[in-house]
Amino acid sequence: MPSPSPTVPNDHIMGVYNRAPLAFERGEGVRLFSTDGDVYLDCVAGIAVDALGHAHPKLVAALKTQGEKLWHVSNIFRIPEQEALATRLCAATFADVVFFTNSGTEAIECALKAARKYHAVNGAPERIEIIGFEGSFHGRSYAAVNASGNAAYLDGFGPRLPGYTQIAFGDSEALKAAIGPTTAAVIVEPVQGEGGARSLTEAQLQELREACTEAGALLIYDEIQCGMGRTGRLFAHEWADGAAPDIMCVAKALGGGFPVGACLATAEAAKGMVVGAHGSTYGGNPLAMAVGIAAFDEIAKDETLAHVREVAGYLNQQLSGLKDRFPDVVLDIRGKGLLIGLKLATPNREFMALARDEKLLIAGGGDNCVRLLPPLVLSLDEAREAVEKLERACASARRSLAA
Ligand SMILES: *Cc1c(COP(=O)(O)O)cnc(C)c1O
Repeated sequence: MPSPSPTVPNDHIMGVYNRAPLAFERGEGVRLFSTDGDVYLDCVAGIAVDALGHAHPKLVAALKTQGEKLWHVSNIFRIPEQEALATRLCAATFADVVFFTNSGTEAIECALKAARKYHAVNGAPERIEIIGFEGSFHGRSYAAVNASGNAAYLDGFGPRLPGYTQIAFGDSEALKAAIGPTTAAVIVEPVQGEGGARSLTEAQLQELREACTEAGALLIYDEIQCGMGRTGRLFAHEWADGAAPDIMCVAKALGGGFPVGACLATAEAAKGMVVGAHGSTYGGNPLAMAVGIAAFDEIAKDETLAHVREVAGYLNQQLSGLKDRFPDVVLDIRGKGLLIGLKLATPNREFMALARDEKLLIAGGGDNCVRLLPPLVLSLDEAREAVEKLERACASARRSLAA
């Protein structure tokens, strides 16, 4: 196939993305090889998706093996690979049951529907309110954009759905005031991703759990970005004792690059999700599950999680040094584990371009942040290289701020 010109946009692609003038033809570990022959250090990892890097041999093998056996049947049959991944997820978490999806947004849809249905079958159909947080991101379906309340994602799409409110991130007093007898659920990212790598404290998670339990509302965690090892625990909320949710959404790294999502729930929280209540054609098909199992087994290993904590500790230390050397460029370092945000004085898009000049790929984020979301397998040497590239990007940013 001829390489597309990365600088000339294709008119036939709906213009909903602001794309960098760059395309890739191959990936290996933490490296991406562009169509114009350059090699980049990838600290985007497909927005926290490629947790094991690119072309991980175990994932490639799982995909090939399953690809030659069976891709898709239907959820009207038992799917052994699905049962195997659900068993793993439930053994590793608070959950009793899992519904598999193709994306994070669909996992969110399932969670919100399960929460309302739970109260409906409990004889409290008036409990429909979903409380979310400002700066959150839950995906792009109608329910997901209403749950996050981001005006830019809601404008022009007709009236807002009833029953969705947002309060300030981490504001326990506002939560206590908002939660009540018509609340179905509270939905929160333990570490906000798109919103700019903002982490709730362990105490805040515990307060949320208590407030929900007291009010009889369900607690939904959106761990689509911060889960699956990203913070150095399998799930970010595990850092806080006694703060397990009733429902949790997982996606992104769950398939290591293959589209897979999951909505996990306790048996109690899922009790309204009976035959006919929900469904998906593709969700949990054998091909997705085979890759998901291979990814899960690698990511859930103690060694992988310990490695994340080590590299994250190193990066955290190095990046605070960078902030000290460039206080005019880097205003704050935030996030948790390998979900790292740098709040900048330079416009974040400009900084991302400066990083690209250094052959480093980083993601944007709310609040004028850039995010580092490297593969979890990033080595200490590669982490050092990332910091050196960021250092040079900071020096360029300083020159452009001075100009
Ligand atoms: C990416 C993301 C989603 C949406 O997932 P999609 O797979 O894009 O539908 C939802 N919540 C969070 C926290 C995310 O990071």
